[in-house]
Amino acid sequence: MIVGTIAKITGPVVVGDGMTGSKMYDVVRVGAEGLMGEIIRLEGDLATIQVYEDTAGLKVGDLVESTEGPLMVELGPGLLSSIYDGVQRPLPVVARQAGDFIERGTTASALDRERKWEFTPSVDAGQELAAGDVVGTVQEGQTILHKVMVPPGMAGRVETVVKAGGYTVDDVVVTLTGGLEVRMSQRWPVRIGRPYARKLDPGTPFLTGMRILDTFFPIAQGGNAIIPGGFGTGKTVTQQSLAKWADVDIIVYVGCGERGNEMTEVLTEFPELEDPKSGAPLMDRTVLVANTSNMPVAAREASIYVGATLAEYYRDMGYNVAMMADSTSRWGEALREVSGRLEEMPGEEGYPAYLATRLAAFYERSGRVKTLGTDERVGSVTMVGAVSPAGGDMSEPMTQNSLRVTGAFWALDTSLAHRRHFPAISWTKSYTLFLGQVRSWYESNVAADWQEYRDRAMFILQKETELQEIVQLVGPDALPESEKIILEIARMLREDFLQQFAFDEVDAYCPPKKAYLMLKAILAFYDASVQALQRGVSLRQVLELPLKDKIAEIKTTPHDEAIEMLPGFAAQISEDIAGIEVL
Ligand code: ADP
Repeated sequence: MIVGTIAKITGPVVVGDGMTGSKMYDVVRVGAEGLMGEIIRLEGDLATIQVYEDTAGLKVGDLVESTEGPLMVELGPGLLSSIYDGVQRPLPVVARQAGDFIERGTTASALDRERKWEFTPSVDAGQELAAGDVVGTVQEGQTILHKVMVPPGMAGRVETVVKAGGYTVDDVVVTLTGGLEVRMSQRWPVRIGRPYARKLDPGTPFLTGMRILDTFFPIAQGGNAIIPGGFGTGKTVTQQSLAKWADVDIIVYVGCGERGNEMTEVLTEFPELEDPKSGAPLMDRTVLVANTSNMPVAAREASIYVGATLAEYYRDMGYNVAMMADSTSRWGEALREVSGRLEEMPGEEGYPAYLATRLAAFYERSGRVKTLGTDERVGSVTMVGAVSPAGGDMSEPMTQNSLRVTGAFWALDTSLAHRRHFPAISWTKSYTLFLGQVRSWYESNVAADWQEYRDRAMFILQKETELQEIVQLVGPDALPESEKIILEIARMLREDFLQQFAFDEVDAYCPPKKAYLMLKAILAFYDASVQALQRGVSLRQVLELPLKDKIAEIKTTPHDEAIEMLPGFAAQISEDIAGIEVL
């Protein structure tokens, strides 16, 4: 066993002497309380350790004991509905042991060791198994079938299989030739991405039910996006809405709140949410990783890797997983703090020079993959990382470096939030690189001319921004009617299409087909109006028709009913406007 002594302490960073034989990222226990840390630098006998708990009270000469292994997470039935801290200690269990304030050095098992899960085997003795093959299943929560898999790196012929029945996470359910044992649970080092057979091209959209995202800035299953969230811009509502409605099986939510109460909000609100698809609690298919405020910033550094590993594990079962990290800026600050303590050469704004590579390596863990295993399983991890640029300054290093490695940017805009335009996602600042990849899905599943309508609507919104500059200079009356109609249509697009009330029973979610038909109706209004204006009809005559109010009602019209009536309604719009007589 490697046991050294503390040579130096600077905040969350401790240097241990006599640590020969240690490896980078080995987990160590520091001092009498056994505080948990990871080795982040090795020089001769000296190991520099990032400690995940408050180091107050440690003294030079205290013992440092290496566990001689990296930070691992436990993967097995019982993850769903759990709430963990940044190093996978279950918060409710820890809180029960320790009262409201978590004692330092607390250890608690990530999975319940006593609980028995009903296991149904799906392999027979004599069968050849490869890594990733499913040996049986466990019903986890109401909706998710947990697949017990041969861990990566293991393979062989089945020698014994247990009978169907109740087993704990430590029980061996299958033995393979050579004495290999497949248990109900497995472990994996968090800093290494779990292996898969191959990456697949993303093609299916990650549908969110939010019109602005699904229509204008869609991403693919297995893609990634960043969402900058200033205070009060609707970050929490948006994240919860994604968690509830996104077209995925599993949600992994990693919270790195700055203030304790930000996290409390998530911890109290998430368990209350209902899964709109099943009526069961949303937690049934959710894992929360929450960095509590009494753990030092360094702990946040590990938490996003814990989250990514949990997400990959469910991906490996063949599920579509959404991982949300809120906020990655807090994680970047942890990197910065530790780098500072290590006296590394600072890069931009004090962030370490390796910030960009770390971010790239993190987002690289998203993707749609053919999983390990002999059967054809496809799973995905889609990542949505919130960023909180100080003062909304998007040029800061975390935002800029995240932009470079992700495929979409959903910019929450403070001025929209002030105007109570929700979701406050800006259509001028946001972008997506996934359009080309999801386009054919929309063309086959929504409408062949889906992109044409999307692009035309986007054009009108962009044109509005230009026209508004003119209006501000010379007033609206200076515009010709052909441009005033653009402002009118843009207003409809903003109010009747982009705005979506997250708390409305119907409008909280919008299927892509309905969104497309809504656009089509609004654009029918536009096309017919342009023609009418050319005939000499005045804009006032067009706007007097009782059509505008009907358009405004569509979003709260039940989806099936709306999808049924919209094509006829679009035709009626064209007809009514064409029927206006020139005065
Ligand atoms: P943040 O987490 O960014 O500080 P919140 O998500 O708490 O902001 O949103 C602030 C307020 O904005 C909410 O209480 C709610 O009233 C309003 N809001 C945000 N998004 C929506 C939405 N999609 N629909 C309706 N109201 C919203």
